[in-house]
This record gives sequence, C-alpha cells and structure tokens, in this order.
Amino acid sequence: SAKAAGSNQWSFFKQQMTERAAVRLRTEASLHDALKNNEFLLYFQPKFDLNTHKVVGCEALIRWQKDGRLISPMSFIPVAEETGIIIPIGRWVIEQSCKVIREWQRKYNYAIPIAVNVASQQFADASLVPDIKQLAIRYQISPELLEVEITETSLMNDVEQAIIKLEQLKTAGFGIAVDDFGTGYSSLSYLRHLPITTMKIDRAFVSDLPKDSAIASTILMLGQQLDLSIVAEGIENDEQLQWLKDNNCVIGQGFFFSEPLPLEEFEQQFISAKTAKILQV
Ligand code: C2E
Ligand code: MG
Ligand code: MG
Ligand code: MG
Repeated sequence: SAKAAGSNQWSFFKQQMTERAAVRLRTEASLHDALKNNEFLLYFQPKFDLNTHKVVGCEALIRWQKDGRLISPMSFIPVAEETGIIIPIGRWVIEQSCKVIREWQRKYNYAIPIAVNVASQQFADASLVPDIKQLAIRYQISPELLEVEITETSLMNDVEQAIIKLEQLKTAGFGIAVDDFGTGYSSLSYLRHLPITTMKIDRAFVSDLPKDSAIASTILMLGQQLDLSIVAEGIENDEQLQWLKDNNCVIGQGFFFSEPLPLEEFEQQFISAKTAKILQV
C-alpha cells in the first residue's frame, strides 16, 4: 500500500541519515587524531606570470595522509567545517605556511607570497585575525608574503563583519584574495567596498575558454576597474592561456604549468639554484 511504501521510504531515509551521522562522527574523531598525529601536509601550486612564465606566488593546499593514502580536502574540509575542527586545522595551515616562508628566505634567500585558504567558519571566528598577526610576528615574516584566500560565498555571509576583518588584515599588510570568484552571488556594489587585493577567476569559467568567455571577460574588466590583481585558476591548455594573455590577465595557475606539489618537489622545481638558472634562460 501507499502507506507501507511511505513507511519503507521513511525507514530507508532514517537509516541513511544514521549512516551519514555515523560517518561524520567517525571522520570528526579521526580528524582530531590526524591533527595530533601530524597526518596533514601541504602541497604547493605555483602561480605564474602568464607573459614571463616566472613564478610569482603559490597556493598552499592541504592533504591528509591517512593509512598510506592521500585524502583530498574536498572530502574532509566540509566535515571539518561542520564540526568546528576546521579552526585548529586552519590555524595549522597558516602556521605551517609561515614556517615555509621563513625557511625559503633562510635557505634560498627566496621570497614569494604563499596563499592559504580560509574556510567560512574560520573566517567568521574571532581568533582568525589575531592568530594570523601573531604567527607572522612569531615567524618574523613580512605580511605581504602571506595571502588569505576567502571564497566569495564566505564573504557574503556577513558583509559588514567581512569588511571589518578584511580591513584589519589589509591594514596589517596581508594580501586578500577572493577565491572562486563568479560562483557566488555577490552584488557588485558590495564588492567595491571590500578591501581586497586579488580576485581569482573560478576554474569553471577558465575551462569554458576560449569558447564561452563572457564571464571571464566581465571579471577581468571588473578587476581592471577596481584596480585588483586577477588570477585565473585551473589553466589546463594553451588555448585558455592564449585567451587569458590576449585579454590582459597577468597571473594564472593550473595543471598546464604545474600541479600542486609536495614541498620538496616544489623547492626542487622552482627554487633550487639549478632550476633558477634554467628558468632565467
Ligand atoms: P581552491 O582553493 O579553489 O583550490 C584550487 C583547486 O583546484 C585545488 O584542488 C587544485 O589542485 C585544483 N586545481 C588547480 N589547477 C587545476 C587545473 O588546472 N585543473 C583542475 N582540474 N584542477 C586544478 P584541491 O587541492 O583538491 O583543493 C580543493 C579545494 O579544497 C580548494 O579549492 C579549497 O577550497 C579547499 N582547500 C584546500 N586546501 C585547503 C585548506 O588548507 N583550508 C581550507 N579551508 N580549504 C582548503
Ligand atoms: Mg584557493
Ligand atoms: Mg578556487
Ligand atoms: Mg574551489
């Protein structure tokens, strides 16, 4: 009967919810262990000047090394956000990045900005700005070498609070990038009031190039008008690169140039003296 079918559906639904809750609880517990046991690591993806092909910065991207496998942030960051453990994980990412900036200066006399991703909940947390300032002081790094990437959606959750925090970060000298730009619904009038330094065109719009270029063009024009630096994400082929160059996009990242790399590999490919010589030619 319809009633029996309905009740079956309900118990199926309930079972699914219970399983999902159980998975979440297990993941939360193992994220705690992961922090304690040092199971997280950062990969680094270079950002390039599209004209000179020189590395002008990089993005730190977290990975979870669990039982010999690398787990993607897509599968644990959402859980970390739901459970609040994103706060200490996010802090770890920032501290780790500060250490790397310091090491590159010490070991190679090399300085490029590292961008860290800041989750919505982490951005909303009162400790974020004081933590970042404190870490920059502790590791003696100059603030413009650390950039925070905040998604457009996080910024729009509470625009007034966002403006206050961004103002504090900008005054202190940190870089501020709006990540995944174009995927949210920010009104352009708000955008004008946000003290940001960079907009990152979401990969989805770069992958449409050169055929579907309306959104990428609009973002590039907007960036020019607001005097922001624009970074194109997810450049995978020469046609996309060519279009971006032709349309005055200066900075980009993507598999066409390099995938995110473990620290040592990044250093070998982009920093060590040997590579530096090759790149200069
Ligand atoms: P995102 O910040 O937009 O990072 C860009 C993602 O695109 C990265 O995936 C990167 O590996 C990938 N990517 C770069 N170039 C290409 C390309 O040419 N083609 C394709 N198909 N993909 C490309 P990843 O590392 O898996 O990170 C996914 C998302 O997870 C990030 O998106 C970011 O939202 C989040 N995430 C990563 N690390 C952290 C972190 O430390 N904290 C927080 N809160 N979120 C993070
Ligand atoms: Mg990012
Ligand atoms: Mg992005
Ligand atoms: Mg993204």
